[in-house]
Amino acid sequence: MFDIAERIALIREKIDQAAERSGRDPKQIKIVAVSKFVDPERIQEALGAGLTTFGENRVQEFLTKYPVIKGPIQWHMVGSLQTNKVKQVIGKVQLIHSLDRRSLAEELSRQARLTGSEATVLVQVNVSREISKKGLAPEEVIPFLKWLSTIGGVEVKGLMTIGPLGEPEKARPVFRQLRELFERIADLELPMVEMKYLSMGMTNDYEIAIEEGANLVRIGTGIFGRRETAQRRRDHG
Ligand SMILES: *Cc1c(COP(=O)(O)O)cnc(C)c1O
Repeated sequence: MFDIAERIALIREKIDQAAERSGRDPKQIKIVAVSKFVDPERIQEALGAGLTTFGENRVQEFLTKYPVIKGPIQWHMVGSLQTNKVKQVIGKVQLIHSLDRRSLAEELSRQARLTGSEATVLVQVNVSREISKKGLAPEEVIPFLKWLSTIGGVEVKGLMTIGPLGEPEKARPVFRQLRELFERIADLELPMVEMKYLSMGMTNDYEIAIEEGANLVRIGTGIFGRRETAQRRRDHG
């Protein structure tokens, strides 16, 4: 069995190699350690091993961990966000990866104004058009951003997608398409829209994502091990 620090070292090595293969600087690539279903002690361990950015996908679970973990930590929300939970996370998370609809943008804008802050988000894109997946269709993204840049309070910092399940190479065209969209949007120079982060790649396909331009990779299992048991226990009581 590997411990967390060893797993992280292994992942960093693979990130370095993937960056090298595609002529990129590995320092530009940041790991978001996806800590859903992971106990605070193990998050603390990963923090001690040098990771600083952690991603959660359920607001309730995030709120139990947020106050107890000590250290230089940044939290991201990577999972789909219910509109009525926005006020519980605003000001606590640095980046929301999953903006996928107008109603959510409107609530983010409203809460940001109320707290005198700005909500920093990525727009989630359903590049592979799977019905089970959240996210805007690729052709909806630019009209959405044009609208969003007028409502205020929401700062867009990039795009996010989830690759298709299964054979990692199947994700390559999906990642490539998101990167092309990312570049097209950057050229538009819309107000409140900066194409800084390209969030794609998980344990199964992060090396391919990096080869295709990802600079945020969301890795859970690769760092903390399989979460299946805990997840099943929680999902099915
Ligand atoms: C769980 C999750 C991940 C991490 O998945 P792993 O396969 O465990 O690396 C990444 N992104 C999102 C949105 C997730 O929900």
